[in-house]
Amino acid sequence: MCNGRRWLILINGTVQGVGFRPFVYRTARELGLVGHVCNTAAGVSIEVEGLLNTRNRFLKYLNSKLPPLAKIKDISISEIPLKNESEFLILTSKTEGLTNIQSPPDIAPCDECLKEVTDPTNRRYRYPFINCTNCGPRYTIIEALPYDRHNTTMNKFKMCPNCAREYTEPLNRRFHAQPNACASCGPKLQFISRNNRSDKHGGMVSHPLECAIASIVHGDVVAIKGIGGFHLACDATNDAAVFKLRKRKGRDDKPFATMVPNLDMAHLLCQLSDIEAELLLSPKRPIVLLRKKPSTHISNYVAPGNKRLGLMLPSSPLHHLLFSKSELQALVMTSGNLSDEPIAYINDDAINRLSNIADAFLTHDRDIKTHLDDSIIVVSSSGSTILRRARGYVPEPIKLNIETSPILALGADLKNAICLTKGHNAYLSQHLGDLGNTLTNRIFEDTVERMQHLLDIRPEIIACDMHPDYFSSHFARCTKKIKHKRIIPVGHHHAHIASCMIENGLPNECILGIALDGSGFGTDGTIWGGEILIANYTSFDRAARFSPVTLPGRDAAVKESWRMALAYTQIPNTKLEIRNFVKHKIEEVVDCDKVRIITEMITKKINCPLTSSCGRLFDAVAAIIGLCTVNNFEGQAAMMLEQVAAENETGMYRYNIKDKLDKLDIQFWNTIEDIVADFKKGVEQTTIAAKFHNTVVIAITGACIKIKSRTLNLAPCVCLSGGCFQNILLTRLLKKHLEDNGFRVYTHSLVPPNDGGIALGQAIIATHLQMLK
Ligand code: ZN
Ligand code: ZN
Ligand code: FE
Repeated sequence: MCNGRRWLILINGTVQGVGFRPFVYRTARELGLVGHVCNTAAGVSIEVEGLLNTRNRFLKYLNSKLPPLAKIKDISISEIPLKNESEFLILTSKTEGLTNIQSPPDIAPCDECLKEVTDPTNRRYRYPFINCTNCGPRYTIIEALPYDRHNTTMNKFKMCPNCAREYTEPLNRRFHAQPNACASCGPKLQFISRNNRSDKHGGMVSHPLECAIASIVHGDVVAIKGIGGFHLACDATNDAAVFKLRKRKGRDDKPFATMVPNLDMAHLLCQLSDIEAELLLSPKRPIVLLRKKPSTHISNYVAPGNKRLGLMLPSSPLHHLLFSKSELQALVMTSGNLSDEPIAYINDDAINRLSNIADAFLTHDRDIKTHLDDSIIVVSSSGSTILRRARGYVPEPIKLNIETSPILALGADLKNAICLTKGHNAYLSQHLGDLGNTLTNRIFEDTVERMQHLLDIRPEIIACDMHPDYFSSHFARCTKKIKHKRIIPVGHHHAHIASCMIENGLPNECILGIALDGSGFGTDGTIWGGEILIANYTSFDRAARFSPVTLPGRDAAVKESWRMALAYTQIPNTKLEIRNFVKHKIEEVVDCDKVRIITEMITKKINCPLTSSCGRLFDAVAAIIGLCTVNNFEGQAAMMLEQVAAENETGMYRYNIKDKLDKLDIQFWNTIEDIVADFKKGVEQTTIAAKFHNTVVIAITGACIKIKSRTLNLAPCVCLSGGCFQNILLTRLLKKHLEDNGFRVYTHSLVPPNDGGIALGQAIIATHLQMLK
């Protein structure tokens, strides 16, 4: 080729398993360039030979016509010697080099695959594992990088000649689609009912899918293997079936997620904004918490007493096929686990653990390498907030505004997720669950290993929560697998605020951080959870707190939230009539002896640590007004208060902000008195709940204004973080009120406000502390 030159183009980003190489191949061929493209452990390497202006057009196309799932992060170009080749080729993967690639998340079936699966003339008609380079399982089937078939759990399936042809034809939609398969060579479904369960091979039912559908229509609970694990499914319109699932799962009233076949059905059941519809349809397919329409044919047992319904659309071809016969219109799809355990994802284990809940199993022989729960998102006027980050979002990195050294951050013990950092990326793991039971602990340890391996990050710094008794803190101290480790304990609420700062790209300057949650270990040894911090990425000051109350019986008070009603009122400075009223109110639902014992514990300060928790304040209020006296799931009382709160109520209650020497004390004693007074007068729960929300918002804003006025060089920026900000009413009101008072307010969108986002904050704090050293 005359006047030709040759360049090496190295690209990293999300460029593997997303149809990037075929795209490069087509583009190069169209432009008449020669050379090759291949995956490397660092991303994609391209060599092109041709004229300079052709190369420039090639680069322009690369940037402007990317396949839908591909993302280019960095691109480097260098000139190399000519090879005078005659064509452009796709070469097989090289494994050498730095691992810096981003393995892609799992993606719901694309429109083209769905068209094929419903076309009776297509060879994949009704094949539940159809996929292509634009869709299919990814992170859940990867065993090692680079992302090639032999490094996935598809390795055991040998492609038939038809599939192999698609896989090797560069212009085919399935060119190098690693999980490519068909009915004759790929994974197969299996239906296991009570009748054939004893048979080791599950008794080969000839129409597993049809059997499963019939079983669900009949009212059974069927465990169905999805992308990241098993769901427990039943007909969401069948009261008896949903009730049965609740009883067997031991889950009284925590809402179940529901899967519907399409957007039309979602519209029928819920009010949908454009953003919510877009999220439902996004290839990540999260559960979106939507406002329920008043009367639907969905069973009331799905989300009892809840104004919202968690809906998702099918995330795999198998899920689509479940709805194909139109006998089913909505399926309860709840995680396949027993209350606190992680979701089951391995066939034998699922059959063992779920056999007392499920009447039957619809499973298959494509192994899941790592479990992934469904992600959960809620949308409010201030944007969308992810509440559980897993399928579809993991392992996409969160961009950092600073270069970090390799750090492993272990998160907190509740809603655990870990985080690894490298360069400008933070990789937050999927939601792993609450540490403390053996199964979750093991998954936590496996994830620490797996992520280090997949991302090729070898940390020497471990960041963990300051809580000395957390399983994760213990792990940090004891793990032998990380050599020369340096442990950096991080304050719980500091980590919350830092996670919000970094996902909003804030610089390392002091800002106000409002951290509201259930509990976190404080630097004074008490339990914090209603805090206003002045914080940057290296340190914080506790500028204000909710005035502490006792936590009668520690963790027991978190579940038996009525204890908090006593904690707020059975103290000497409460008026006697209020004390008695609340006590009698609680005695209507709780055994009198128990109430007496807890009251004594409070007055004698036995097993009553102090807490400034915002979550516990919500518990107390919900119990006093008879809305919720026991948290059957985390945050239930607060959620009920949010849901009943009347819209447009502007009233509020008294509160106090007391100046203590080094901080402000935000006191809600008068608030509680006013609430009792309102309640005695017969004021509706809806009004009280709304006035209470207003009071918290105005009290916190008042404290912020005070802190700002007396602190030099404090930017008028406020970050909101902590589990209480799952409450979108509280978030919306507080954001608006702070903004009305001149503050710039930052909230979460990329990582959860709850403890699921803590590891990111720990990692960024450790990064900055490390640099100070
Ligand atoms: Zn596809
Ligand atoms: Zn095949
Ligand atoms: Fe927290």
